[in-house]
Amino acid sequence: MAIKRITFRLYPNKAQNDKLHYWKKLHCLLYNACVYHRKTEYKKFGKNVNYFDQQNSLPAFKECWHEYKELGSHALQATVKRVDFAFQRFFKLKSGYPKFKSSRRYKGWTYLDKAGWSIESNGHHGFLSLSNLGKIKIRGKARDWGVPKTCTVMFKQGKWYASLTVECNPTRYQTDTGAIGLDFGTFQAVADSNGNLIENPRFLKAAQEKINKVAKKFRRKRNPKKGVKASRRWRKAARKVGKIQSSVGRKRQDWQHKVAVEIVSCNSLIATERLNLKGMTRKSIGKRKKQKSGLNRSILDVGIGNLKSLINYKVTEAGGLYIEISTQKVKPSQTCPNCGHQEKKTLAEREHHCEKCGYRCDRDVAAAIVMLNYARGMERASLVVESPSSTSCGSMRQLGALRRQKRQSQAQPD
Ligand SMILES: [Zn+2]
Repeated sequence: MAIKRITFRLYPNKAQNDKLHYWKKLHCLLYNACVYHRKTEYKKFGKNVNYFDQQNSLPAFKECWHEYKELGSHALQATVKRVDFAFQRFFKLKSGYPKFKSSRRYKGWTYLDKAGWSIESNGHHGFLSLSNLGKIKIRGKARDWGVPKTCTVMFKQGKWYASLTVECNPTRYQTDTGAIGLDFGTFQAVADSNGNLIENPRFLKAAQEKINKVAKKFRRKRNPKKGVKASRRWRKAARKVGKIQSSVGRKRQDWQHKVAVEIVSCNSLIATERLNLKGMTRKSIGKRKKQKSGLNRSILDVGIGNLKSLINYKVTEAGGLYIEISTQKVKPSQTCPNCGHQEKKTLAEREHHCEKCGYRCDRDVAAAIVMLNYARGMERASLVVESPSSTSCGSMRQLGALRRQKRQSQAQPD
């Protein structure tokens, strides 16, 4: 069994649309109230407020603010948990102090279990029912359908969406028995060990001129320092920019899926390097600021992180093996794939030419071959280690398990 996420477009009627917006605002206000609560309790009284303190004060909160009653208690808990996530990230130094969110930027809310919503669908269109709101027509198609678990309602670019997680048995084509090494980069998005290069599609670069043109108008229409507030025309310009950007995002996602499918359909062993993307795309404060930010943009335009995770889950679903190799250990870009001789290259050297054995090929292809060879050795020695997951800060599922455990222990008489 696997958990998959599927997004449907919602088509609410006028009354439902108004209510959805109202609920989104209520959730946003709750989010901000929770941030404020934690902030002031700590500043004034030196007290740390945790998730359970806030969750347990929700019933009393609802007695005071009656409009929150129709939202469903589990949905409110999920919003409180979002605040907790933000603080957890801050405590782990992964992000800054949680900010208050404006309702324009606030995306939506989540139903954690079957309470408060239900869906009539076999994975292809249908209806979504939210309690105290009614039935909404939905459109969308799932590749694999099963038991719906959670539902997130989102508002994006003027449209409503429902993003469901579904527990299902994914059906995926058989992969071939091939093995491949992959090197991700900026000049070529992907270079594989068979010598194939996939160009960086540069979707953002193609759209950048358009964005700049609209964004220029957009910037002029608002100036908080001079007291020029957001006007209707400013909002219109902002929507236009958002529209182009999300179109770029969709194009990129489509391309990533296609590339990933192509790679997975012929290979059951995929080797690649573990990349520190955050380090690679860090801002430069030194001299070559512009060059670095241009390089960052073209790295991000490929969407390497997402592309890698798509390849990972697709090949795992098909019963194959995905291996990430530490670059410090193997040094794929410095090693000769033919004889193993190591020599440093500058970034400008696009070709691998070995001094020792005279082997010549593309630089990225050479790196991919080195990684594949190493992965084959690992597979033979069965040294494959799962790459560590980055999120471990008390997810909603873990929390649910904890709650069930507690309830069981309370139910059992000592
Ligand atoms: Zn060599």
